[in-house]
Amino acid sequence: MELVTGKPSLQNALDESSAFLSARFRYQAHAVMRPPVIILLSVGFVIALMPVYARQNPAPLRSAAENTNRFDPAAATKAWLATIPRDRREKSDAYFEGGYWLLLWNFLLLAAISVFLLESRISARLRDFAERVSRSKNLRVACYAVAYLLLVYVLSFPLNLYEHFFREHHYGFATQSFLPWFREQLIGFGLTTIGGTILLIALYTVFRRAPRTAWIWGTAVAVVFMLVVMFIAPVFIEPLFNTYKPITNPEIKNPILAMARANQIPAKQVFEVDASRQNTRVSANVAGLFGTTRIALNDNLLKQCALPEIRAVMAHEMGHYVLNHGVKLLTYAGIFLAIGFALTRVLFDAAVRRWGVRWGVRSIADDAFGINTSREPDSMAKVALRLGAYRKLDPTPLEEFVFFDHPSGRARIRMAMDWKAANLPAGESPAVETALLPNSH
Ligand SMILES: [Zn+2]
Repeated sequence: MELVTGKPSLQNALDESSAFLSARFRYQAHAVMRPPVIILLSVGFVIALMPVYARQNPAPLRSAAENTNRFDPAAATKAWLATIPRDRREKSDAYFEGGYWLLLWNFLLLAAISVFLLESRISARLRDFAERVSRSKNLRVACYAVAYLLLVYVLSFPLNLYEHFFREHHYGFATQSFLPWFREQLIGFGLTTIGGTILLIALYTVFRRAPRTAWIWGTAVAVVFMLVVMFIAPVFIEPLFNTYKPITNPEIKNPILAMARANQIPAKQVFEVDASRQNTRVSANVAGLFGTTRIALNDNLLKQCALPEIRAVMAHEMGHYVLNHGVKLLTYAGIFLAIGFALTRVLFDAAVRRWGVRWGVRSIADDAFGINTSREPDSMAKVALRLGAYRKLDPTPLEEFVFFDHPSGRARIRMAMDWKAANLPAGESPAVETALLPNSH
């Protein structure tokens, strides 16, 4: 019933940017008039009394009673999703679904390269060469590892070039020309080679010393390795690709730090990262562990989004921090690695590369935290739609379970709308509050 009256007005409201003002004004009225409605409900004469009461107090109560029922989270979610034109929806679905296939192609290519290196005896010749070069077992592993990683990089370069350069440009996300992109590829390859060699030396050492319990010790080595990488990443790795600088604009900085203080996050600064060097994506991140933890938002977000949206995103990122997702990710990774090592003791190095990336940690908790902190359901919805530029907005439950590390756009908007339905307006942005003043129009 309320769906019929509620839907068109909401739909209409969403078409314009001033939508939220009128929508929020209704909730404001709803908030003021709520107690009588609750009393009526609790007495249990709702149906009988409402028309009578409404007749006695014509305008205000009637609209309040309607408003209590009017906000339908399901309809609101639909209305938000409907604001994205069909062609854009199809494009982002195609981009995201292509990513599923790329997972498969990458896996098959890596498997094919491994088989090729073994079958062609290139791998064996590399090992023989490494044994001639040095007597030290560690140096032999290093020598083999560097050559192996270089071969894999070169052989997989065509797919890499398609996936990370041409495809990103085709969909309009990439901002780099070939040379700067390739330069970063080389830096990435250098880091992979250094890190991969150190990791393999440590793993082989453990495997030689304790072949029977290798899967336990291998997991321990890998987890310690990831811990170190996470710890040093903000200090030594990320600056190789981007510049991080503290945000000085008090209009952005102060509201973000206020949310941090309210949640016991000892942050003194919020950083801005120049992600527009590489792409047009809107994002923020929490990186580091313990002492090196840093909350940063990217310049695309700053340029494209209004403060309420920025608050919504930053509150989400704070959720990752407060909920210790770094440590949790590491724990899940450890569990998966232990299973991986146990299952593939023979082909362990292939397993490390295969399962190092996608551990399928899903998180809705950071969104819930984010929305409770920022109190910006509409901005949350806006941000979810922005992310929809490159993430499928409305996947099937199976797709969402397998391929999403965060909830889908539809799930996020629905969560925000459920929150909105269950909460009275409070702490909204100054712009909105000003507009809500009775004499402002
Ligand atoms: Zn997140």
